[in-house]
Amino acid sequence: QIMRKPIIAGNWKMNNTKKEAEALVNQFKPLVKDAKCDVVVCVPFTNIETVAAACKGSNIKVGAQNVSWADKGAFTGEISADMLKDVGAEYVVIGHSERRQMFGETDKTVNMRTQNALKSGLKPIVCIGETLDEREGSITEKVVTTQIKGAFEGVDAKLLDNVVVAYEPVWAIGTGKTATAEQAQETILYIRSVFKGLYGENVANALRIQYGGSMNASNASELMKKPDIDGGLIGGASLKAEDFSKVVNF
Ligand code: PEP
Repeated sequence: QIMRKPIIAGNWKMNNTKKEAEALVNQFKPLVKDAKCDVVVCVPFTNIETVAAACKGSNIKVGAQNVSWADKGAFTGEISADMLKDVGAEYVVIGHSERRQMFGETDKTVNMRTQNALKSGLKPIVCIGETLDEREGSITEKVVTTQIKGAFEGVDAKLLDNVVVAYEPVWAIGTGKTATAEQAQETILYIRSVFKGLYGENVANALRIQYGGSMNASNASELMKKPDIDGGLIGGASLKAEDFSKVVNF
């Protein structure tokens, strides 16, 4: 029996001023203090320092929502891994579908960002997942395989215990249309098999793979019962303290 500690991460996307961020964190901090899983909130860059200060001494870890592939220099608008660590981030979401769809993120840039995060000691939450067209065209497995091979090309097996993978079917993100627990389990089991092929049984069995896509207080426990689902990446439901704490305390 392999024990993987579940990890529930909120993705605030582009929401909350510093003041709102602090209020939200202070609201859910007491509600999640006895969580049996790892708890992370991935917040806008401008909130990281505030949220990290508010979470100090608690069981809540802070993450960013993107990181540069470079260490420093002429990369206007980008933020480096060292800068993120400097303000208190431990995790970083990489390759979210919104970045792939709207900001030109590709498997190659996801790979470069992931390598840089790992090199700097930030823990990447690498997002993959198929669109509705791809699912209906029965190419989900092909799509996630390509995304995994692209994202992890050249990434050493030794670094994989710092990695979290988020399986987020694009059709389920922000739509209120959750994948069924069976669909999520089936694809995540497949994803784990791809990692087995790339890194071997032990690495793949230790890798934490989250589900993401309209996960909320009412469907979290069913999803979390599935053997290969090791957590969730939570968008909308992470913006309300009560909802988020219910997911965390699945
Ligand atoms: C996400 O942004 O990663 C996500 C899963 O969003 P939502 O929970 O709102 O579908």
